[in-house]
Amino acid sequence: MYILLMGPPGAGKGTQAANLVKEFSIPHISTGDMFRAAVKEGTELGKKAKACMDEGKLVPDDVTIGIVRERLGKPDCRKGFILDGFPRTVEQADALGEILDGLNIKLTRVIDITVPSDELIDRAVGRRICKKCGATYHVKFSPTKKEGVCDVCGGETYQRADDSAETMKNRLSVYEEQTKPLIDYYQKAGVYSRIDGSQHIDKVYEDVKKALDVLK
Ligand code: ADP
Ligand code: ADP
Ligand code: ZN
Repeated sequence: MYILLMGPPGAGKGTQAANLVKEFSIPHISTGDMFRAAVKEGTELGKKAKACMDEGKLVPDDVTIGIVRERLGKPDCRKGFILDGFPRTVEQADALGEILDGLNIKLTRVIDITVPSDELIDRAVGRRICKKCGATYHVKFSPTKKEGVCDVCGGETYQRADDSAETMKNRLSVYEEQTKPLIDYYQKAGVYSRIDGSQHIDKVYEDVKKALDVLK
């Protein structure tokens, strides 16, 4: 399965990707995670990405396309993948089309998780992530059993620097302007499914599987 998860910031892409990884054992490729790892390591890529991320803007297309091209070329992507948060511009979508053509891969589905904007801000502001294993929580909607401690690995949880109400406003307007055109793009390609992301996490996952035709 070659899955693309789309949706505004905070819609639940990462949460659903984790479910899919568990069930189908295919790699989760999140450009946001890749950039955060690069920032943490202090690499050249990290330096380029950090300023954009802090402001809630997109990292330039050439940089982003480069890292995805390299990642999709790895052998573990042959049997399937979950692309999360890429593409976010028409230029990135065109580049992805070329990369996949070169690998002789066709997207199985583009799953767009939609949630009203006021709810997205609450989700982002309350989001907590494990420093050690990357598991995602929410202080209200999906809390850890013990505050600040990951249920999975016991690691410490943290809040992303860009998960403030203020930065979210920029991220949401970037989404409206640059990413929303991809709805039409993938609808025309006949691979687009929209899912109501404001439902309970488990119900959203059920709908994801319905869209993938793995749950009737
Ligand atoms: P994205 O990857 O799209 O930015 P995440 O999967 O990180 O989104 O989810 C954003 C926040 O919302 C997280 O704190 C997560 O625990 C929470 N969340 C995800 N899905 C739901 C849901 N269906 N209902 C309530 N909260 C959710
Ligand atoms: P979310 O889905 O919650 O917005 P991500 O982790 O996907 O979070 O992205 C965090 C930040 O990383 C984005 O605001 C942007 O600066 C950068 N980023 C991630 N994916 C891309 C992309 N495909 N193109 C450009 N920038 C990206
Ligand atoms: Zn953990």
